[in-house]
Amino acid sequence: MLDADFFRRWMTATAASVDREAERLTALDSPIGDADHGTNMQRGFTAVRATLEKEAPDTPGAILVLAGRRLISTVGGASGPLYGTLLRRTGKALGDAAEVSEEQLAEALRAGVDGVMTLGGAAPGDKTMVDALVPAVDALGDGFAAARAAAEEGAEATTPLLARKGRASYLGERSIGHQDPGATSSALLIAALGEAAAVEARHE
Ligand code: ADP
Ligand code: MG
Repeated sequence: MLDADFFRRWMTATAASVDREAERLTALDSPIGDADHGTNMQRGFTAVRATLEKEAPDTPGAILVLAGRRLISTVGGASGPLYGTLLRRTGKALGDAAEVSEEQLAEALRAGVDGVMTLGGAAPGDKTMVDALVPAVDALGDGFAAARAAAEEGAEATTPLLARKGRASYLGERSIGHQDPGATSSALLIAALGEAAAVEARHE
């Protein structure tokens, strides 16, 4: 079962990974965006980490709802409301249980990703974060490592795609040949699930 500590570790592992990869995310956002995705994500997850250190919600759902709210209030870009919605919806779907199963997390994340697609209007294949998140959620039943591999593959598979949503879509055909920054950061978020679980395994 996954408890509140697991979800706190998920958010702090994401913040650490975003710190490490911020330059790369911004570099990916240069040719097909406005070169701010790394700084946007870093500002957002740094705020999430700080908030979770101060306030300590004691359920998985409350942690994700709070994290989502912080992202919405601190990230200016398109990705802020989208990631905020992802975490808030996922958190709401988890309800007020003290512990949740991996299956419940997979179901809740599915609701979160549906929220992202409703808010942003993107479908798989539009060259957005959805291209990493949907395969990750599909693979989550096979464990965190499978979800990570699916997200990374999904992010890499955005390279040959034509962007149909977000800033990159303004470039039309010129968006082809570049990996989507948001799909890349989504793969970091999914990879952090495995990191949060690994810490737990070491403690047992
Ligand atoms: P901005 O585009 O406002 O500068 P960011 O650079 O932080 O915001 O985020 C860009 C990423 O957001 C894109 O790479 C893409 O993955 C994601 N994105 C943008 N618009 C949408 C959308 N409508 N639906 C889903 N994801 C989107
Ligand atoms: Mg940008």
